[in-house]
Amino acid sequence: MIQSVAFIGLGAMGYRMAAHLPKHFDTVYVWNRTFAKAEQHAAEYATQAVALEQAVQADIIFSCLPTSADVEHLLKDLPLKAGSIWVDCTSGVPESARKLVTQLSDQGVIFLDAPVSGQTIGAENATLTVMVGGDAQGFEKALPAMQAFGKLIKHVGESGSGFAVKAMNNMLMAAHLCAAAEGLTTLKAHRVNLSEALDCINASSGKSMVTETVIPQRILNRSFPLTFALPLLAKDTGIAIDLAQEAKLSVPVLALAQNLIQAANSLSDKNSDFSTAVKMYESWSKITIE
Ligand code: NDP
Repeated sequence: MIQSVAFIGLGAMGYRMAAHLPKHFDTVYVWNRTFAKAEQHAAEYATQAVALEQAVQADIIFSCLPTSADVEHLLKDLPLKAGSIWVDCTSGVPESARKLVTQLSDQGVIFLDAPVSGQTIGAENATLTVMVGGDAQGFEKALPAMQAFGKLIKHVGESGSGFAVKAMNNMLMAAHLCAAAEGLTTLKAHRVNLSEALDCINASSGKSMVTETVIPQRILNRSFPLTFALPLLAKDTGIAIDLAQEAKLSVPVLALAQNLIQAANSLSDKNSDFSTAVKMYESWSKITIE
């Protein structure tokens, strides 16, 4: 029986994910590094903005920070409550999940890697996909809390598996983004109407989430709204490539996509949406995808 939950890291995702918890649980603690955001969340959603030391006394503690390094840093020397479950929704590093499982088990705490997909709109609508790695019993216990913001929630394997699935998902999305940018600049060079072309592709076998939503909603209309920062995507493709290298696999397509995303990231402002990666292609080809 879950009596209390906590959410740590009220960023673009966390702020929205934590907003659903008070609908299901009486005691919901929130904490954020910039504490004013936690206070704003409390005022908006009837959560309780508390010190980090109090937040981690909840039965289920969610975290959603940029990187595993941030989570490790936060957990260093932090006293936890035996019997609680730490559910890390960061898109993190599998090796770090395994390390934290061991570290937290010393305090009687289960660590689950539970990254999410579905973007900020999915967080807002509680329709996120949650891919969970780690202890199966811990997964069952934490499931009701994850259901507050998740729609498809899967236990995908042992510790680190959730982070691995998330990294590979984003790697595939990055590859689709690069391929679509190349395909569309080529079509425009041949004087094709891109909007009509996309309608055809999206009714055909070349479609992807990138062609169905990212290009029409962010790129063709030149809005590039910042909801998922390009450096975070570059981090995810890096994790995916490390996984392939650890397995000693040759992944030429993924390696190329990783290089392209890293190059686009190095050319961009750090507060750029991931969709701005196509601007690198636009600068090479002098063709705008609009
Ligand atoms: P944001 O940059 O919007 O938010 C990051 C949050 O982490 C902020 O609350 C920030 O606090 C906090 N934070 C950053 N560094 C530290 C630190 N060292 N110690 C404590 N708190 C810290 O990120 P997102 O919400 O976009 O992403 C969070 C995670 O979710 C990432 O791993 C990302 O890859 C993943 N993700 C993002 C999606 C998206 O569409 N945005 C979709 C799916 C997954 P402060 O307010 O003080 O800066």
